[in-house]
Amino acid sequence: MQAVPHALMHIDGKWIDSTAHYEIRNPATEELVATLAKGSTEHADQAVAAAKAAFEEGTWRDTPPSERAAVLRRAADRLAQRSNELVRLQVNENGAPVRLAEALHIGTSLAHLRYQAELAQRYLFERPSAMLAPVLAAALIRREPIGVCAAIVPWNFPLVHAAWKIAPALAAGNTIVLKPDERAPLTLVEIVRELEAAGLPPGVLNLITGDGPEVGGRLVEHPHVRKISFTGSTRVGHDVLRRASDDFRHLTLELGGKSANIVLEDADVQTAVDGALFACMAYSGQICAAGSRLLLPDTLHDAFVERLIARVKTLRISDPLDPLTDIGPLISREKRDHVLDCVSAARKQGARIACGGGVPSGARFTRGHWVEPTIITDVTPDMRIAQDEVFGPVLAVLRYRTVEEAIEIANGTDYGLAAGIWSRDNQAALDIAARLEAGAVWINDWYALPPHFPLGGCKQSGIGRESGDHALDEYTEEKAVSIDLSGGVEGKLYSLVLGAEAP
Ligand code: NAD
Repeated sequence: MQAVPHALMHIDGKWIDSTAHYEIRNPATEELVATLAKGSTEHADQAVAAAKAAFEEGTWRDTPPSERAAVLRRAADRLAQRSNELVRLQVNENGAPVRLAEALHIGTSLAHLRYQAELAQRYLFERPSAMLAPVLAAALIRREPIGVCAAIVPWNFPLVHAAWKIAPALAAGNTIVLKPDERAPLTLVEIVRELEAAGLPPGVLNLITGDGPEVGGRLVEHPHVRKISFTGSTRVGHDVLRRASDDFRHLTLELGGKSANIVLEDADVQTAVDGALFACMAYSGQICAAGSRLLLPDTLHDAFVERLIARVKTLRISDPLDPLTDIGPLISREKRDHVLDCVSAARKQGARIACGGGVPSGARFTRGHWVEPTIITDVTPDMRIAQDEVFGPVLAVLRYRTVEEAIEIANGTDYGLAAGIWSRDNQAALDIAARLEAGAVWINDWYALPPHFPLGGCKQSGIGRESGDHALDEYTEEKAVSIDLSGGVEGKLYSLVLGAEAP
């Protein structure tokens, strides 16, 4: 067997192996890409202890924000120099088509590191205030780092999700234990390496691996972890929420979605067709904010679906490393089977598979985990395919008669991550956007993710926001410090309440 790289954990500045290993396999070919140390709850404990010691020792916390920002910037520069290598790692471990991996997986992550570095320099870690009545006092309102943060990320956009957590957490002076999904850890090993090479002290950023329920669960419950930032499924998010709330930990949850894409009657149809496909089929639908429900007005429905199907047939399903590829594989055999089960359940509930619905034919697709881009029509809002997250290249098309009905359908799921509106009338679209229960609404676009946009969801899509101008707020705790300048007790609350006199 050809030798493949072996990836390690990183605890207290040292690279650590384990007796157990994972295999990382290319989702397009099932070839072995790398092996990975498989961590345990003991490794989780060691990593938390290292992060706690580094926080208490204070070197990073007390480093001036401008120098912390410089470390983030240097790391971004170092990663940018290796971007081709990172793109290749990403494509090989999670099957992202190469153009998507360049633009989103790597490009977005680096932009975010740089933007948070810039924000850290102008963030008000401390602002003066004054209390003029009843007595003169000076006050400082401080935003202080929280302490040890656990960052748990999924396999679909590991570097993006890690950067959304790591950059503001480090900029604010926290220490971190990062836990990737065992299927896609390789780019995260590199971000840790480059941050330390850029000047991050040992113990500030630790990386551990291991099975989610066991090792992720240990982080969530660990009494020394003061902030948990979790990105993953709503099912696991529920569990994290329950366990983190026991002792009032800070929490950010970025969870699943079933985002609605509403086409209005006056939309530019060709743009909306392309947009609807991009929203649902990019990365084979394995994106939390995928526009997996398409809401079409009765008047446009048939012609629109016809154009969609014609356009789907032009998509190239192939090797994700080929720059001409539009659609690559799914992450695993289990996920592929889940997607195919969702399609067959939709058929049983009375929906029509208008195109796709199976594994593509051809020798290339006998290995790897493939599903054809699939369009399902005759979907009603009560069907499972209109309610459940599929996380695959499956677009459920629903009809509506009035805009009121479209809004009701769009809001009629447990999720609230993203939504889209296609219209030539910006004001009408903005009015609808105001009524949609979603953390992001894209008008005549999808996946606009510049680093100054906050991202997150409402309802069962999560709690809190990542990225954006307020990302550091999520990794700091506000503290008011006041100094009495009056030199006496007169007029003070305690003398008023207790009637005490100065000795
Ligand atoms: P998952 O919830 O199974 O796993 C996510 C991470 O949590 C992994 O690192 C996993 O090892 C860990 N984990 C698993 N069980 C755990 C537990 N009991 N305690 C602590 N950690 C645990 O997610 P998945 O199905 O692999 O990923 C896809 C899901 O993630 C989809 O639902 C998708 O919508 C969601 N997602 C959301 C966002 C967002 O920003 N809202 C982004 C990407 C993915």
